[in-house]
Amino acid sequence: MNQNPKLKGQAALVTGANSGIGEAVAIAMGNDGANVVVNYVSKPEVAQQVVDKIKAAGGNAIALHADVSKEDQVQAMFQAMYKEFGTIDILVNNAGLQQDAPFENMTLAQWQLVIDVNLTGQFLCAREATREFLRRGMVPERSAALGKIICMSSVHQVIPWAGHVNYATSKGGINLLMQSMAQELAPKKIRINSIAPGAIQTPINRSAWETPEALKSLLTLIPYNRIGQPEDIGKVAVWLASDESDYITGATIFVDGGMTLYPGFSTNG
Ligand code: NAD
Repeated sequence: MNQNPKLKGQAALVTGANSGIGEAVAIAMGNDGANVVVNYVSKPEVAQQVVDKIKAAGGNAIALHADVSKEDQVQAMFQAMYKEFGTIDILVNNAGLQQDAPFENMTLAQWQLVIDVNLTGQFLCAREATREFLRRGMVPERSAALGKIICMSSVHQVIPWAGHVNYATSKGGINLLMQSMAQELAPKKIRINSIAPGAIQTPINRSAWETPEALKSLLTLIPYNRIGQPEDIGKVAVWLASDESDYITGATIFVDGGMTLYPGFSTNG
């Protein structure tokens, strides 16, 4: 546990927290004093390992199952969270997946699954969290905001991505979902922001880093010349959920080693 925990006593729910970025965010928030819900849709034993890691570091966590694209499961998960931790202060909408295909071959099922999980899932969880923030009211000793929502977007909210049309569409949608929610809810003191990761070394993009050739090719897209680690996102998420960022809402923080700086233009133009 950190010496001066930034999220002391706050209840945080991280979706898709038994892998990659979600796991790192859950662990980082646990280390900063939050009571953490580690959401998972599959592999409960791995979710339990994340809970165990948080507890071993002196934090507090539970694992809760829900498919974020299913309204009834999302609502049941939030109710189970309130039974355990009383409320929610921080939601991290992290769960996401890819179903890649050349555009002409993309099935409706591939399109729909990505939109359902990546976009509708964020809507469903954000709506539940917002209802609880409004019901509960301010708790000034915990946070200056009524509640905080972090949406896990991607550099592909701005970079078009051939062969991944469903994914890029979902992330572009998250941007305006986040901004519109932020505009509507700022007067109620709810802060809503996005993190847009670049290439972070997780199972979702294994083919992009698992061979030296693939990694070399990937690094041509990253001016900072290293692949990101899940912990790079965990640190930013803690800060964005804390009162240190209290005046930030409706923003996207790109955590991408410069991937969105048009690296192809660095020696031309
Ligand atoms: P990952 O595959 O390691 O983790 C994704 C998590 O989401 C897993 O725990 C998975 O079980 C969960 N999930 C999938 N469908 C779900 C559902 N219906 N309900 C609940 N959970 C579900 O990938 P990751 O890289 O850690 O990705 C996390 C988020 O970060 C995603 O939204 C992804 O789009 C985004 N992102 C990742 C990268 C990257 O380079 N890794 C870059 C940009 C954005």
